[in-house]
Amino acid sequence: MPTCLITGVTGQDGAYLSQLLLQKGYRVVGMMRRSASSDVVGGRLRWLGIADDVELVDGNLVDLSSLIRALQAYEPDEVYNLGAQSFVPTSWNQPLLTGLVTGIGTANLLEAMRIVRPGARFYQASSSEMFGRTRQPRQNENSPFYPRSPYGIAKLYAHWMTVNHRESFGLHASSGILFNHESPLRGIEFVTRKITDGVARIKLGLARRLPLGNLEARRDWGHARDYVRAMWLMLQQDTPDDYVVATGQTTTIREFCRLAFSYAGLDYREHVVTRHDLIRPAEVDFLLGDASKARDKLGWRPTVTLEDMIAEMVEADLTRHRAASGAVAWTAAATRHPSRGHPGPRARQERDLAHADAPDAD
Ligand code: GDP
Repeated sequence: MPTCLITGVTGQDGAYLSQLLLQKGYRVVGMMRRSASSDVVGGRLRWLGIADDVELVDGNLVDLSSLIRALQAYEPDEVYNLGAQSFVPTSWNQPLLTGLVTGIGTANLLEAMRIVRPGARFYQASSSEMFGRTRQPRQNENSPFYPRSPYGIAKLYAHWMTVNHRESFGLHASSGILFNHESPLRGIEFVTRKITDGVARIKLGLARRLPLGNLEARRDWGHARDYVRAMWLMLQQDTPDDYVVATGQTTTIREFCRLAFSYAGLDYREHVVTRHDLIRPAEVDFLLGDASKARDKLGWRPTVTLEDMIAEMVEADLTRHRAASGAVAWTAAATRHPSRGHPGPRARQERDLAHADAPDAD
């Protein structure tokens, strides 16, 4: 049974990747940094029903010795580095922390592998944010980088450290330059989940307005479940390499709003308001990926359309808000009738997930 070690296991991609690798028969070990809220950050694993199947190990990307110990203890065959401070606006407020976790943290893990486990395979979660202010109509592995935030800059350092460890020390280290990828497990601070959550709250009468920033930026959005498959495929190749993973379709935030609101029978123009403090000091206006190399060499293709993903996300947020109000109703009933039963596991999952937006992983 192969063993994998995943950093950022409590994030969106960590959860979907764990699920995929468990299905493939791996022993899945997830690294989790200690925090007072550790109990709720496992919400995504619980949502997928795999929390009991993933082994958790304490560790932190900024603590080299904890990485060395985890590699010694579990002897993984594959290491997936998904841990990061991954929210762009936070990276302007905490640029040094972002550099430390997202940039130096990757260097620490590569060094730990070089010392303890040089034969294992390594995946680095690189990001389309590295392209930033791109001048190219479609971005591929050869496009120049021009990051526009401390997050993009930290990811670029991590990307080149990965390339350098491959070229200098022969590590089987691959880097996936993933364009934005979303799902019902996306953190609520990211625009897609913020929108689908807003749609659900407005639909259920829990809110009337949804404040957003720049509606004209364009992103190439895919589904996280498709994208974690590309990560695994990269590590199954004889030769390590770098790959762009994208759908090849770009959409404005405005159009995403239109689709999500109209899925619920609403008109976004009646609810979305622009708030200037949500506009970023430097914007990435346009991203559109060319994943031909991943298609040709890995046989990878996206399977979920934007419309289907939006439908899945809106439905999940409707379910969560309904369950949350159900849980409130249950609490009131239980107070009046203390002998009544407990909320079911699904209701517990919904509440866990509502609080599961750990800012530490994609
Ligand atoms: P990013 O591409 O990693 O920065 O992913 P995000 O989902 O955070 O942002 C995608 C785009 O949505 C960016 O161009 C943002 O400027 C834009 N956007 C507009 N309004 C909002 C908002 O309220 N929250 C976030 N997170 N992004 C917004």
